[in-house]
Amino acid sequence: MIKGVHMFSGGLDSIVSAHLLKSLQIDLTLIHFVLPFYAGFDTVKSKAVQASAEQLGLPLRIVEDGEEFLRMIKDPKFGFGKNANPCIDCRIYRLGVAKQIMQELGASFVSTGEVSGQRPMSQRRDTLFRIENESGCKGILLRPLSAHHLPPTITEEQGLVDRSKLLGIAGRGRGQQIAYAQRFNLTYPSPDGGCILTNIQSAHRYLDLAGKQPDFTMTDFKLIAFGRHFRLSDDVRLIVSRDEHENQVLLRIVGELDCYLYPTDVPGPVSIIRGKFTETDLLNAASITARYSKGRDKEMVKVAAVKGEERSYHSVRPAGDAFCEQIRITSEK
Ligand code: SF4
Repeated sequence: MIKGVHMFSGGLDSIVSAHLLKSLQIDLTLIHFVLPFYAGFDTVKSKAVQASAEQLGLPLRIVEDGEEFLRMIKDPKFGFGKNANPCIDCRIYRLGVAKQIMQELGASFVSTGEVSGQRPMSQRRDTLFRIENESGCKGILLRPLSAHHLPPTITEEQGLVDRSKLLGIAGRGRGQQIAYAQRFNLTYPSPDGGCILTNIQSAHRYLDLAGKQPDFTMTDFKLIAFGRHFRLSDDVRLIVSRDEHENQVLLRIVGELDCYLYPTDVPGPVSIIRGKFTETDLLNAASITARYSKGRDKEMVKVAAVKGEERSYHSVRPAGDAFCEQIRITSEK
């Protein structure tokens, strides 16, 4: 039985294409990539992906994007899309990883649920070829949904995958994929907000980070997905959580060298201050943390600052909205 590895986002196209390949008696392993922001977290999305893999009865391997992804996004060869999304380089990087797994498993091809012409940046026909070449996947990259619009892969030429059973879908419509899913009783998730790097707020935070601190670390990068962001100085950034869930996330991300803050006597956010901060920066950070706490209307709020074993307490006046808006990193200005 021929083996393949399938890049599996858990969305409609990846479910339909995986089902199609399985129906051709292919021994398929699903690979799901997780952006650095969600690495190590059991998110709603990761549960949905696992459920989709179970529905298909196929093994699933989760791959968390790591330091190599970070190197890629600092200097993407093909640039960014509309926001902070380096889609072409991201596809190339991930296909390279998928190819390694393919070799490790003794499989013959990598497949994806890509549809020619569906997305403006990474799924234009010429871009599909470029991605295939740059990732070293020429001849082994199978796109079963659009196969009839693309040259045959080596496995199709060898008759190991029956090309006549593959599809010829192109463009943005999802009608054929939905009809396929209905025919085989496949459930699939509604489209979600998509990759956070395509979001304008995240892009703003990313550009601020990359502009002020080009040697940013993985933790700096992960933080762009969470909280409200403030620039206290060229060197110092403050991230203030927005809810209890983000409190837990920030506490997990916080490093040994980080300083985090929280109000001691009223419910409120966890904040992380990053960079070489001064005493004034710390007091401003405490004051902004107090502003987003339940003590925002009080005269003074007590805020703890923790760094490693050190802990200090600061009674501060909650910051005013005008000050917060002035230093907030946002696209809404
Ligand atoms: S949308 Fe995000 S995850 Fe998808 S290819 Fe682009 S950068 Fe990568």
